[in-house]
Amino acid sequence: MANKHDFVCINCPMSCSLELTEENGEILEVTGNDCKIGKRYAEEEFKDPRRVVTTTVSVRSGSLPMLPVRSAEAIPKRLITDAVKSLEGIVVDAPVKLDQVVLEDVAGTGVNIIASRDLASASIQPNT
Ligand code: SF4
Repeated sequence: MANKHDFVCINCPMSCSLELTEENGEILEVTGNDCKIGKRYAEEEFKDPRRVVTTTVSVRSGSLPMLPVRSAEAIPKRLITDAVKSLEGIVVDAPVKLDQVVLEDVAGTGVNIIASRDLASASIQPNT
């Protein structure tokens, strides 16, 4: 028996409502997409949904206390909680460069967590 799964395409502001039909895990049809990107998105969401993880980690001696970080690529959605947990307690020394690796192979995905921005060291305040 065929089953239907609904998705909303997030690849452009059109937000097309997609309907994927499958039977025993085999994709039969995708409808509702205005372009082929939506078809591919629905197929990926059904077979292996992935997301880029974004969060923050602590910084030692930085101009800001927290550093925004992200996964260098999208990782399986089911591993996002593990990925975020593995970043707990990580402290990065300033200065930090954009795309600097903060953690390798997060949650065994083979994907690195990288800095989303430059972050300078805390400036030393002169005595007045
Ligand atoms: S299917 Fe195409 S047109 Fe529709 S939201 Fe996705 S990318 Fe945009």
